[in-house]
Amino acid sequence: MQGTLRVKNATLLVTMDDEHCRIADGGLFVRDNVIEAVGPTATLPATADRSIDARGMVLLPGLVNTHHHLYQTLTRAVPGGQDALLFGWLKTLYPIWSRFGPDEMFTSAQVGLAELALSGCTMTSDHLYLYPNGSRLDDTIAAAGDVGLRWARIRAQRLGRAGAGARGVVPRRVRRVGGARARRGRRPRRNDVPQRPRRRAG
Ligand SMILES: [Zn+2]
Repeated sequence: MQGTLRVKNATLLVTMDDEHCRIADGGLFVRDNVIEAVGPTATLPATADRSIDARGMVLLPGLVNTHHHLYQTLTRAVPGGQDALLFGWLKTLYPIWSRFGPDEMFTSAQVGLAELALSGCTMTSDHLYLYPNGSRLDDTIAAAGDVGLRWARIRAQRLGRAGAGARGVVPRRVRRVGGARARRGRRPRRNDVPQRPRRRAG
């Protein structure tokens, strides 16, 4: 956000710095997306382009989510997977995920990111390990652009060596997604995920 923003009158400002400061009637002042000052409201610049009255609220740094699979947001409430353990849950959902495409990936990520934003999270990772039906990492990147969270994009490995134990769980068509053959001119590996980048010599 360009311009200035003043958040004032927070019942408690928690800085989470080394001193663990807790400031009653706190606030902060932002200029061009950079926090210039935090402290008691009375010490902040008196005017700003935009002002938020945080009376009755706690003001603290955004939360960080270090592990998420945003593409799963749309399938959180599938009855067959609700009380299942891991592989039962996977068996229920993989057939659904195998029919996902770019639109579902985009929407699922956007809903998940919006939920995070509404619950105070300002930075997340996203471990994405399925690319069915032409889905690309770019679909979820586009979703994040609209919501505005900071995030770390991770093209992830599904289940690691446990991938072998996932036979019968992961539909064949999903195992084959990723397009390794088409993109790189060779057979895809059993796990559908991208290959590690080659290390440079030296
Ligand atoms: Zn995970």
